[in-house]
Amino acid sequence: MADVAVIGGGISGIACATALADAGLTVDVLDRGHRLGGRLATQTLRDTGTAYDGRVVDIGASYFTVDDAGFGEVVGDWIDRGLVRPWTDTFHIADGSTLLGTKSGPVRYAAPRGLRSLVEDLAAVLPSDLVEIRHPIDVTSVDVGEGGVRVAGRDYRAVALCGPDPQMDALVAASSAPMWEPVMALVAVYPERTWEFDGAFVNDDPVLSFVADDGSRRGDDAPVLVAHSTPVFAAGHLAEPVTAAPAMLAVMRNLSGAVPTWFTVKRWTYARPAHARPEAFAFDGVVGRAGDGWAGVPRTQSAWVSGDALGREMSGALES
Ligand SMILES: Cc1cc2nc3c(=O)[nH]c(=O)nc-3n(C[C@H](O)[C@H](O)[C@H](O)COP(=O)(O)OP(=O)(O)OC[C@H]3O[C@@H](n4cnc5c(N)ncnc54)[C@H](O)[C@@H]3O)c2cc1C
Repeated sequence: MADVAVIGGGISGIACATALADAGLTVDVLDRGHRLGGRLATQTLRDTGTAYDGRVVDIGASYFTVDDAGFGEVVGDWIDRGLVRPWTDTFHIADGSTLLGTKSGPVRYAAPRGLRSLVEDLAAVLPSDLVEIRHPIDVTSVDVGEGGVRVAGRDYRAVALCGPDPQMDALVAASSAPMWEPVMALVAVYPERTWEFDGAFVNDDPVLSFVADDGSRRGDDAPVLVAHSTPVFAAGHLAEPVTAAPAMLAVMRNLSGAVPTWFTVKRWTYARPAHARPEAFAFDGVVGRAGDGWAGVPRTQSAWVSGDALGREMSGALES
């Protein structure tokens, strides 16, 4: 019997598994995806009719920022090994019609091989004598009993639920808020680069919230944009994501001046929580919870911080 089942192979689950394994505990990581990474999601372009088939695109998180010392160490190692590059500290501001100016902020980091490669990198160094990664397994319930849990046919001393609250609530018949918002992500390949922004926050527009230049963030200058919709717009297109395309492409044309050769739309039903709880995680001695619904601000760094903190807490409790 392994000590802990970690459900979720996104960055929070893998950070949790890393902390548990560092303490010598045995861990099974279960994820329903064919690949790890969760919302640090990368899609390989196929059948686009362009020269970019085989190129990967970030279709979930656009970038991440760093101000936590622990996550900073992890990111520093990725930078040293060429897995992460500082992308930009300046984005444009736009409305739905035109670019309005620029705004500087923190350095945004990106991954030349896509953000998913970072989760896969963390998973690759987990010790195989302590950690088993089981996927794709769609966990449908977590049965909490006397002094332990049963998950996907195996018994464990504890479980870590690492991912969006609605998905994890369903496993333990809980309802824990906060509200989670949807986003549509549209990937478009263009004949050539016609724009001069790295990314643009689109304010006061009912359709788009952000557009990223995937070529500049990944460093190959490919003419690829990825746009994210507003949550309200996404909510109206969840049943049939492709119906979101005309309105999203119209705003993208306003900002880029271009018409794409190929596009696709990805639906994120649970893209982000409306807010994150201030606590880093929850743990009642058997069931732990982590992810970007914790640790203050909904973002990639919080997911890592939350998973790492839960793993350390569980290690202390299960070792004693
Ligand atoms: C469109 C979009 C844009 C974003 N932009 C940014 C950004 O610019 N900057 C930033 O910092 N962050 C951004 N984020 C947020 C960032 O992606 C998340 O904070 C982070 O990836 C969360 O990691 P996680 O491990 O908590 O959850 P997830 O990555 O969602 O991982 C949860 C995992 O659990 C698995 N799972 C769920 N249910 C089950 C089940 N029943 N059985 C088995 N496995 C299950 C899923 O397959 C998934 O792999 C964005 C997210 C989206 C969707």
